[in-house]
Amino acid sequence: MFDRLSGKMSGVLEGLSRNGKLSEDDVTEAMREVRLAMLEADVALPVVRTFVNNVRERAVGQEVLDSVSPGQVVAKIVNDALIDALGGAGVTPLNLSASAPVPILMVGLQGSGKTTTSGKIALRLSSRERKKVLLASLDVQRPAAQLQLQQLAERVNASTGLVTSLPIVAGQSPVEIAQRALDVGRREGYDIVILDTAGRLSIDEALMDEVRQIRAVSNPAETLLVADAMTGQDAVNTAQAFNDAVGITGVVMSRMDGDARGGAVLSMKAITGAPIKFTGAGEKLEALNEFHPERVAGRILG
Ligand code: GDP
Repeated sequence: MFDRLSGKMSGVLEGLSRNGKLSEDDVTEAMREVRLAMLEADVALPVVRTFVNNVRERAVGQEVLDSVSPGQVVAKIVNDALIDALGGAGVTPLNLSASAPVPILMVGLQGSGKTTTSGKIALRLSSRERKKVLLASLDVQRPAAQLQLQQLAERVNASTGLVTSLPIVAGQSPVEIAQRALDVGRREGYDIVILDTAGRLSIDEALMDEVRQIRAVSNPAETLLVADAMTGQDAVNTAQAFNDAVGITGVVMSRMDGDARGGAVLSMKAITGAPIKFTGAGEKLEALNEFHPERVAGRILG
């Protein structure tokens, strides 16, 4: 990921560095190339516009054209603008400050990696923070999804001893399962209850209604959207639709290990207002990383 974008961006910036003193035309031309590189990487158009304008304004404001090494100054400005686009410096941790059991609601389309990510988060919270975690599948349409979550819970529990899945009771609605999960969570002293909602192949009102109802009864501290980085702009559109319909507090970008062009990562915060909190980098349960905007900006600039 980012290889192509990174190659182009560093090419543009190297070209500037060689120029010695820059003219305004040099900067304008460089920004034109940056713009094209970002569009080609599938970054959303409004995000590209804001980005390029930011860089241009800051470049003029800092009198880059007169500075000793203008290429480096522009590189720094581009770096800072990338960090801003990615959500600002520093990680945005999970908000777990509600009283226990803290509900975390997982939403997203089917196949986005929602269930796997629920297991990954359970592993992270139980192994690093010694949290006792209850996992509950609310997918009553697909028994396979419920079994998948159960098996994930068993695998995580084998390594941390702190994770259980809510027993499956046939005939309950998603809202009833959510309520039961929270009851069990309270009664049995769980720190965290992760509610893995059903996904659909595409956005529909029935799905959003269901998520809204679950959200209303569970009052989650976090509503995390899992989006597949490989789907590019669609991932951003999906996030926006979920945010408009139910409100999301963060995004997990899965499949960052693939060869996606990276545009979704750069567009997500600006388009949805929700920060990327984690990225998924593989099928293994350990393959979940905190999202560091500075590191990603560094990778893009090569
Ligand atoms: P759900 O339908 O949204 O619950 O999706 P699943 O969690 O079942 O994931 C669908 C497939 O994607 C599974 O085969 C997962 O192992 C795989 N998967 C999930 N996250 C990642 C990731 O970050 N990288 C890769 N390569 N595969 C992933």
